[in-house]
Order: sequence, then structure tokens, then C-alpha cells
Amino acid sequence: MGRNISSLHVPHNKHTAACVPVRIETPKEVILPMNMHSGHDAEPIVKVGDHVRVGQLIAREEGRFSSPVHATVSGTVTEISAMEVAGGETLAIHIESDGLMEIDPSVKAPEFSDCDGFLQAVRDGGIVGLGGAAFPTWAKFNEAKNPDYKVDTVLVNAAECEPYITSDHRMMLAHPELIADGIEYLRKYMNEYLGNAKFMICIEKNKADAIEVLKKTFEGKDYVVIHELKTIYPQGAKQVMLYNATGRVAVAGRRFPSFGALIVNVSSLAKMAEYLNTGMPLVERIVTVDGPAVEKPMNLIAPIGTRVSELLKYTGLKSEPGKVVMGGPMNGTAICSADDPIVKISNSVLIFDEKNSVLPEASPCINCGRCMEKCPVGISVPMVDKVMSVEKEERRVKLLIDTGVRQCVDCGCCTYVCPANRPLLEINKQARSYIKKYLAAQKEKEGGAKA
Ligand code: SF4
Ligand code: SF4
Repeated sequence: MGRNISSLHVPHNKHTAACVPVRIETPKEVILPMNMHSGHDAEPIVKVGDHVRVGQLIAREEGRFSSPVHATVSGTVTEISAMEVAGGETLAIHIESDGLMEIDPSVKAPEFSDCDGFLQAVRDGGIVGLGGAAFPTWAKFNEAKNPDYKVDTVLVNAAECEPYITSDHRMMLAHPELIADGIEYLRKYMNEYLGNAKFMICIEKNKADAIEVLKKTFEGKDYVVIHELKTIYPQGAKQVMLYNATGRVAVAGRRFPSFGALIVNVSSLAKMAEYLNTGMPLVERIVTVDGPAVEKPMNLIAPIGTRVSELLKYTGLKSEPGKVVMGGPMNGTAICSADDPIVKISNSVLIFDEKNSVLPEASPCINCGRCMEKCPVGISVPMVDKVMSVEKEERRVKLLIDTGVRQCVDCGCCTYVCPANRPLLEINKQARSYIKKYLAAQKEKEGGAKA
């Protein structure tokens, strides 16, 4: 059955598992960055002074691969300006709320009758992967149409294996009917491509109440399997989930559906169904607020674009924050300040106190091999590090690709186990970004030469 996929036992810290999400009061302002998805930034179509309502399109897709942005409160556009984000800069639309949360008249359940119409609707709703990568959901489903692939399994990723985060867990308890609707939409409108596909809801065993709810919801539906997974990290990484659910091994450089499977995050599926049922795009989400500096960890329902500081008014702080992380402690991203907004993929905001924020000093690699041993896709990060200093650029890129670094799932297991405290995940991220830029520049050069 192939290789063993490595994993780690990390402290769960799921303090908010029993916390029913609380809807926050409408914030005074929301800030909506144009890059809340993978691909090209969205293009604003409103201007300063415009009045907008909840669900109104305010930025359209730009380029072949992008996602639209909708107003998440009603009010006035006060600013459209550049904003610093991890890895660069993007435009952000600021909306001052009028406190009314007036719904835009365009918010109506979309009408469609075939697969293309269905995919277009998912696209229009701004639905993206809410588990971390923010890949536009329609594009993921669209891949199943490739005649070279034969998709027989849809993995619904409900693992939520990162410590602290419980937003998917709470979504499953609150809205199992939306997960069921999401599956039915796929079965109906993608029937030609998904045929008799099995839907496997992959969930870690530490969510016993959600497992029970899902079993009841799908009772008698033999095309849905509730697949219980061991509570180990990183069960939610797509390559790990594919192997643990189907025994298939993802090979570097191939698209995921070529292994006969699609994978979709459970909250994305639910939000997709909500949009298709009501016409309300992705304008709010459940976000777990926790971490060592948080007084009262909670799950909150907040408009996308709400500042983190607004959320902290509910949870309070018990010590001075040292670091604010969006996402989990293993693969989340530190943000500039608590004034930054939550975005579509913000399943959690973790606040670490100063003591827990100081990174231990890195020392030289002792070649212990633990990072590679614990990497679910078998990458040797010390090798990636070494190759980055190869002199000739072309050779450097070739060797980097050979290390398999592009298969990295950003799980952070390597960094976690390294006794020398080396920033291995960071090294990998830099290497991947370097390869991407190099290949893009090459493509541009080739295009220029042909023209
Ligand atoms: S190299 Fe990537 S996939 Fe492997 S352990 Fe590190 S972060 Fe995870
Ligand atoms: S775990 Fe750290 S010390 Fe060990 S081989 Fe990897 S980088 Fe080197």
C-alpha cells in the first residue's frame, strides 16, 4: 500500500471545542484586501464615497484565476489604498459601516441548470478554500472535467488537525444540512464528471459530537462515508488525507484529481451551499480566537474584514500580546498588528504573549534527519537550504525542483522537530517563491522571444 506517511502528536489545545459561535456586533469599519484568495488580486469596481450594501460586488475577478470580493457590511467606501500583507502589498477597500447591515438587492439565489452554470455561480459567490490555501473552489471542481482524470472520490476535509482551531468543528455542529446540500449540488450538477463518486467526510476522532451529527445527517446515504481519522498532525494536509483515506500516494508535479480524487474543505462546501441556496456570498465566517494571551477563548461569527482588535473586545487579553497569528500555530502566518483584518481564510486568530513569541536562536544543522523523517512528503529541507546557494541559477532551480520542495504542504512539522531550531518552513517558503518567480520570468522571456 505504499509508504508510511509521517505525523506528529502535537498538543491539541482545542479549548473552544464546546464554544457555540457568538455573532459580534457590526464593526464600525471593515477592511477588505484584494488578495484573499490564491491567484491574481481582485480589481475594485467601487470608488471612495460609494454607498454599498451587504453582499454587493465591490471587486471583480482579474485575470484567468482570481476571485471576486463582496461588501460585508452596509455603509460608505472611505478609502481604497495599499496595504502591507505577508509577502507583499495589495489594495484594500475600507468600508465605514452604517450599522444597518442592509442587504444588497442583487442577493438572490443564483439560477443555473447545468455544470457550467453551477461552476459560474460558485465563482460569482467568491467561494474559496477556507482551510488555508484559499484556492477558488469553482476552479478546483472544474479540474474534474479534464478527460484525462477519472474522479471516483471526493474528500471532504473536516480533519481540522491544527491545534487550537475549532471553526470547522462548530460549522459541522451548527450546519450539517449545508454540508449535505453541498454534496447534493455536486452530485446533481457534476454528475457527468463525478458519476458514482464516493464522498468521504474525513474527520479526526477528537470531534465525537460532530461525527455523531454527521452520521445522523447522512444515514441511509450510501454514497457518503464518515471516515474517522486518528488525531495526529497533519491529517488535514491533502497528500496525507489522500493516502489515509484511499491508500493512494500523491506524486510530485501532478494535479490532485489525477489521483482520482477532489478535496474540499468542509466549511467551504457549507458556505458554497449557503450561497447557492440564498445568494449571499462569502461575507462572514466563524473564527476561533485563542492563544496563551487570550483571557476567554471563543468562537465568533464576524464579517470578513473585521479588525482583530474588534474580536479581542469579546475575548479580552490576560497578558501583553507579543505575536498575532492568523491560522494555526503550525502553519499560520504572523500578521503585522491586531489592527489587521480577518480575511476569508481566517479560521483562527491566535494571540501569543511576549514570552511565547520569542523564537529560539537557530544553530547549525546537526544532520539528525528528524525533519525529513517527520515530513509527510519526504522533503529534505537541509538539502533545499544547501541547494539555494548553488551558484548557477539554472542549475540551482533544477536541483531545487528535484528536492520536491514544491510538494511542501506547509505543515511546519520539520520546524517543530528540529533540535537546532532552524526556520525550515521559512526556508521552504522562500525556495518555492524563488522557483515560482524564476519560472514566471522564464515564461515571460520565452513569450517575448516568440513575439
Ligand atoms: S518540508 Fe513542508 S511538508 Fe515537509 S515537514 Fe516541512 S513544512 Fe511540512
Ligand atoms: S531536524 Fe534540524 S538539525 Fe536535524 S537534519 Fe533537519 S535541519 Fe538539521
